[in-house]
Order: sequence, then structure tokens, then C-alpha cells
Amino acid sequence: MPRADSPYNSDVYGLDAMAQAKLAALAAKALLRTPVETARDGVWVERGGKRLLSFSCNDYLDLSHHPAVKQAAMDAIQRYGVGAGASRLVTGNHPLYAALEARLAALKGTEAAMVFGSGYLANVGIIATLIGANDVVFVDELAHNCILAGAAMSGAAAHTFRHNDCGHLADLLKAERGKHRHALIATDGVFSMDGDLAPLPALAALGDAHDAWLLADDAHGVGVVGGGRGSSFAFTPPPRVPLQMGTLSKAVGGYGGYLCASKPVIDLLKSRAASFVYSTGLPPATVAAASAALDIIAHAPAAVAKPLAKARLFTTALALAAAQTAGVPVVLGDIQKALAAAALLESEGFLVAAIRPPTVPQNTARLRVTFSAAHDDADILRLADVIKTRVLSA
Ligand SMILES: *Cc1c(COP(=O)(O)O)cnc(C)c1O
Repeated sequence: MPRADSPYNSDVYGLDAMAQAKLAALAAKALLRTPVETARDGVWVERGGKRLLSFSCNDYLDLSHHPAVKQAAMDAIQRYGVGAGASRLVTGNHPLYAALEARLAALKGTEAAMVFGSGYLANVGIIATLIGANDVVFVDELAHNCILAGAAMSGAAAHTFRHNDCGHLADLLKAERGKHRHALIATDGVFSMDGDLAPLPALAALGDAHDAWLLADDAHGVGVVGGGRGSSFAFTPPPRVPLQMGTLSKAVGGYGGYLCASKPVIDLLKSRAASFVYSTGLPPATVAAASAALDIIAHAPAAVAKPLAKARLFTTALALAAAQTAGVPVVLGDIQKALAAAALLESEGFLVAAIRPPTVPQNTARLRVTFSAAHDDADILRLADVIKTRVLSA
């Protein structure tokens, strides 16, 4: 209730009324979202006083809880404190960045790399800097929201192509490419809500043929596919992807975004990407943790292979198409059906997120099941059994 004596009585401005009307409209469509307090310890979480086994986490290698990663973060806090203090171009570029960027460039086989505050900030910064009003961008229709946001911010003409449909992209390139100066093709390397891979060799060939730069967002690829090097390395030979973007917040276990590319591209973005220039550097502990985690990814091929193997155990048990990555969608269509399935699984001790529009297209509400190296095979089979007998047959 607005307070009568408050100068901020929002009735005057209609702000609360606007918010309440929008909330009611969302609630009527079962599209209201509320963060639920969840304490997490690896694959186990506590929610509403109940312990649940989580299949809803992108920490695929459980590196957020790895002793060496935690120790690296603690050492960095002791030495450098908790905050960066300013943008990296001012005083926020503490010494740990050079090591992390060198590791990223080595992982992806590029000349240079740069770290952003998050994956979201990376994509909006990269895309809006590399292309502008006279240019054109082609985006897969299921690409992550931050790619679409970057495309909108860039002011370039934007076209979406049907998901993983290179024929459709080729048609669009033929019709539109010639009208513009520069062109960018932007896609997820691993699609976050579908768990499939982009056909990067074919996209790279189209980029070559039509003079268009290819950006692949590897948020869910690094640490999981291509021996841990990410989606480009899931193919032999790896296609030439000049802009390899990703995040440190999923398999790497911490926080931050990155781009691996040539030195001139990285140097340009360090000078001009607004989300880099005008945003504070990451906390030193976060940078140190990411370096330690990447070190583990580079040297623990057996651990890196696990999330995909666990996902395949699940898809085999349910006779679904074999998992390509550590995330598997169980598409149910109807929003209420997805919410009911998530509630049922919770009552069985599992946390599996129901994903609704607009995160996924209309009528494709789903369970998104993600696998971690830390999951027990027996638990995966029990989850598959509950989904088979009580969700899919319902
Ligand atoms: C999670 C995600 C991002 C955003 O990364 P953050 O570091 O969480 O901001 C970008 N792209 C894709 C495909 C993602 O799944």
C-alpha cells in the first residue's frame, strides 16, 4: 500500500498500477516468474526446507565447488580484496586478467581473448561494436536473448533464420547480403534450451561464401563438448569461427563472459565495446577461480566427458534422440503441463526446471534436464523412470 505521507506515493504516477496490471496479465497466462530461495551444494539443493537432487544447473563439472577453484578465489580475496574498484580501463584490470585471457586464447586456439563482466554483457558489447547501421546480422531463431539484444542495439538490419536451417540462411544471404557493408551470422554453438549443436562447419562455409563473420556463443559448449574446448571442436576439422564467445558461469563454474578472436578484433573491443568500457571489472576472486577451473578443464578429459555420457544414459533410458550436449529438453507443449510435471518431480525429490515462453517458442513449454559429472547413474535412471511412467504417459 502506498503511504499517504510519502512523497513517492506511486498512485500519483500510476507506476504501481501499471506494474500490478502487467503482473495480473502474466499470472492469468501462468507466465509469472518468481525466484525461489534455493541453497545449493553441488547437485543437491535445499528449497522450502526440502532436499532435492537438482537437474537444473549449468555447473556441469561441479567446478563451483572444486577445492582448487575455491582456494584460488580465497587466495585472490586475501591478496586483492573483494571488488575491482573500477572499469578495467581505469583501475580494475588487476594482474589476474592476463593469465585468464591467455588461458582462454589457448583453449580456443585464437590469437587473443578478452573477459567481460558476463556472457550477456559480452554479446551485447561484441555485436553492437562490430556492426552498425549500414550492416546486416543473421540470427538463428532460437539464439539466446543476449544475441538478439546485441543485434537490436547495433542498429543493423536483422534477419532471423529458421533453427539450424542453412538453406534458409543461404536464401537470406543471397537476398540481403549485397545491400549492406558488413555482415554477421550469430548463433548459439550449443542451444541452451534445446541442447543441440549448431551446424558450425556449414555456417562457416556460408560465411566464407557471402563475406559474413560468424559468431558462435559457446555458453553451454565449453567444458562439455569438443574435449572441453567447446562446440567448434566437436567437429573434425574444427570450422573457422572468427568470433568464439562464451561464459565463465556454466561449466567453468563462476561468473564472467569472454570472447576469443584475433588481436585487432580484441583490441578494438577493448577500446569500444560499451559493456566493457563502462562496466566495473569482475571481482579478483572470480577471475582467479575461472583460471583455476579452466586449468582443470584442460587437464581432466575423463571428468569433461562425464556430463554428456550422463545425458546419453538419460536419453537412452527414455528412447529419446541421443543427447548431443549436457542439456536435454523434454518438450511437453502446454505451459500447465510443464509446470505440473516440474511439481510432480519435486514431490519425488528432483529439481527440474519448467521452461516457458518467451524463453522458448509458444507451445513448446518443456522440462530442461541438465546433467553434471557429479550425478549418480542410479539417480538418473530413477528420474528417467518417473518421467517415463508419470509425465510422458500421463
Ligand atoms: C547463459 C547464456 C548466456 C549468458 O551468459 P551469462 O554469463 O549468464 O550472462 C549467453 N548465451 C547463452 C547461449 C547462454 O546460455
